[in-house]
Amino acid sequence: RHVLLGGGTGFVGSALKQVLLSKNYDVTVISRMPGPRRVTWFDVQSRGLPEGVTAVVNLAGQNILDPLQRWTPGFRQNVWNSRVNTTKTLAEAIVNSKIKPDVFLTVSGVGIYDPSKTDVVYDEKSPIGEPFDFLSKLAIEWEKAACLPADVNVRQAVIRSGVVLGRTGGMIQQLYLQFFFGMGGPISSGCQPLPWIHLKDLCNMFVFAIENPKVNGVLNGVAPQIISNAEFAKAFASVLGRPAMFRVPEFALNLMFSEERAKIMTMGQRVAPARPLELGFQYEYPEIRPALASMSRLFYSK
Ligand code: NDP
Repeated sequence: RHVLLGGGTGFVGSALKQVLLSKNYDVTVISRMPGPRRVTWFDVQSRGLPEGVTAVVNLAGQNILDPLQRWTPGFRQNVWNSRVNTTKTLAEAIVNSKIKPDVFLTVSGVGIYDPSKTDVVYDEKSPIGEPFDFLSKLAIEWEKAACLPADVNVRQAVIRSGVVLGRTGGMIQQLYLQFFFGMGGPISSGCQPLPWIHLKDLCNMFVFAIENPKVNGVLNGVAPQIISNAEFAKAFASVLGRPAMFRVPEFALNLMFSEERAKIMTMGQRVAPARPLELGFQYEYPEIRPALASMSRLFYSK
């Protein structure tokens, strides 16, 4: 059992790699940087899949919420290419491979669902219409890039992930010190939903998708408990024993990140994981408080 893992050096990818290694999978990471047990995207383009690959997973993607990057056309292009083009490269390599892997898994985002429809709970059957902003267009094209021709006999699934909560990266790492020093609080009104999933559950969902032949199509990668941004802030402050009084005004985030990407924080969708539950996926952290309690320590080891 050999997994080819795009983005295996990242926040989610490195955690998934550890889980896979602990289950005795061989893992080859695809990275822009060559190294041991690694191949580059160029290697995949020129030589195809490494020998013996049984599953291909893509978790590559330039961090959209990097505060050091301005939202310029060039950066938007990087955000796009690092997802859509890497996924296309893998789909092509699979089509051209003589010995096919069993399964091709990719990630995309809940940004595919319109956050302005505040009364809707989206599940995987919710229709995806025309793109309505950059993030929805990106998610649609990202998912399309993963589609294999019908005659290619490889099982395929995409996990539409919510905000991934883990101590070592993503939103928690960005907010940790602010909350630790008692300066945390909700964003804007705090009423906007915050679709979320614990890092461990997302990794387990990928393993579940690799191992379970019934998994195909779209799975919403979110926890069953739907919460608001204010509920998140209250729970995180409380597991750290701090108040959550400092509201972050929407205009500040719009100024810092530009409105188009600040949306990830200032708006949110109500998303239900209907398919994972139907398929019998077991969450370790279905509720927010224990999930956040598991990442409350100041010091941690990767
Ligand atoms: P990271 O920011 O940790 O990045 C993942 C990897 O992507 C990096 O390790 C890097 O690998 C590769 N990468 C970065 N920029 C580029 C680029 N310009 N071209 C090619 N590869 C690049 O991401 P996460 O682990 O947080 O997320 C993994 C995936 O899941 C992403 O696609 C993300 O959009 C998606 N996702 C994440 C969520 C979250 O909350 N974290 C929520 C929803 C979806 P290397 O340097 O080795 O090339």
